[in-house]
Amino acid sequence: MKQKGLLMVISGPSGTGKGTLVKHLLKRNNKIQLSVSATTRKPRPGEVDGVNYFFLNKNEFEEKLTHGEFLEHAEVYGNYYGTPKAFVENQLNRGHNVLLEIDIVGAMQIRKKFKEAVFLFIIPPSLEELQRRIENRGTETPEQMTKRMDSALEEIRELEQYDYVILNDDIDKATGLIESIVKAELASVERSQHYWLDLFGVRR
Ligand code: 5GP
Repeated sequence: MKQKGLLMVISGPSGTGKGTLVKHLLKRNNKIQLSVSATTRKPRPGEVDGVNYFFLNKNEFEEKLTHGEFLEHAEVYGNYYGTPKAFVENQLNRGHNVLLEIDIVGAMQIRKKFKEAVFLFIIPPSLEELQRRIENRGTETPEQMTKRMDSALEEIRELEQYDYVILNDDIDKATGLIESIVKAELASVERSQHYWLDLFGVRR
């Protein structure tokens, strides 16, 4: 019998460096599988279908939704996003650790379905730094920037819904913290006892 993989959910407002952190984490850990989400948003330059997202039109997305193909889904900034169910379940059953990088609405749907999942919240070092990072994105109007800033603060208010907070002031430190959490969670008695009791052939 194999120990089931760990399901990890990462959220955090835009401007926290979440995407870069996830990339770094995956590069250092070949035992973590990233779930590729489906979305109805248009690809950005350089994004590849099946790598960054599965890009679908609204009808295709709704059809999959009706067939129960998503573990969770949410509307973010006017587009639909969803986590493909089959991939995540297969990987977990094979003992692989799976990472979902999704918003808080989706994260709370996962919380209900997977009591054993671990929820990580990425937080920027300070209010000033958050503002600076949002401004550095460049393309937004001042009004849009204020909106992003407000919604970032709204999201931080929901911190208590998560299990761990990852301060992203240094990418190596933040990645190391996530790796430690993964190790500790996999070693927890609650998560691993069935595996050990079976291995030694002892039953309670
Ligand atoms: P972006 O369009 O910038 O790639 O992502 C926008 C937001 O959608 C981010 O907060 C990201 O975490 C979230 N997101 C990406 N994929 C999913 C998903 O499958 N489900 C949910 N609920 N949110 C997602």
